[in-house]
Amino acid sequence: MKSDIQVCGEWESRHDRPVYTLGETCPACGAAAVNVAPAPFDPADPHGEYRRRAKRRARDDGE
Ligand SMILES: [Zn+2]
Repeated sequence: MKSDIQVCGEWESRHDRPVYTLGETCPACGAAAVNVAPAPFDPADPHGEYRRRAKRRARDDGE
C-alpha cells in the first residue's frame, strides 16, 4: 500500500527532526514535502548519515 505520509523536503536544514505531513507542503516552514519512501541519502555513500550529523552539529555550534 502506498503511503500518503510525506516529510518536509528541507527538514535537515530547517528543523531538528523530520516534520511529517499528509499535505504537499511542510506545515512548519512551507517547504515542499517529499514522500518518505525514497531514500534520503545515496545508499552507495555509507558516510552520508555521519556527514549530515556533523553538518547539523556544526550549525548548532554556530548559533
Ligand atoms: Zn519544514
